[in-house]
Amino acid sequence: MATNRTFTMIKPDAVEKNYIGGILKMINDAGFKIVAMKYTKLSKESAGAFYEVHKERPFYGELVEYMSSGPIVAAILEKENAVEEFRKLIGATNPADAAEGTIRKVYAKSIQANAVHGSDSDENAKIEGDFHFKANEIFA
Ligand code: UDP
Ligand code: MG
Repeated sequence: MATNRTFTMIKPDAVEKNYIGGILKMINDAGFKIVAMKYTKLSKESAGAFYEVHKERPFYGELVEYMSSGPIVAAILEKENAVEEFRKLIGATNPADAAEGTIRKVYAKSIQANAVHGSDSDENAKIEGDFHFKANEIFA
């Protein structure tokens, strides 16, 4: 059964361009409730750990550099069928392939600097949320 939560990050490129407000508005307008949120910066070590699943992929080193290059916004979002619904809202990994009206279509500039993260499964949503937030930082 699908859980009601997913995890997102507004990535360094989007934070730097002052897109936080616009992206959060799209998230709220799509019916997601923010139950945890944090403005923070990943160290190289924590970015490396977060993206551990991509360790063998050729872009891993650059991804870790990029994700630790500036502040991010991390958040846990709630909505029915949250993981799948949020993947639809963010659009394809490569903004060139992202559908009209998706966050990546509007705000992403490249396949790496693609504005937002979205969990790809309920299991990973839980792991990723727990990576960034303690139980007493989540307000359901
Ligand atoms: N990425 C990249 N080059 C690629 C594919 C992915 O730099 O060829 C980056 C990009 O920032 C992406 C992240 O690695 O969001 C994780 O990749 P994944 O395939 O999980 O895409 P996502 O789930 O974010 O759409
Ligand atoms: Mg992914």
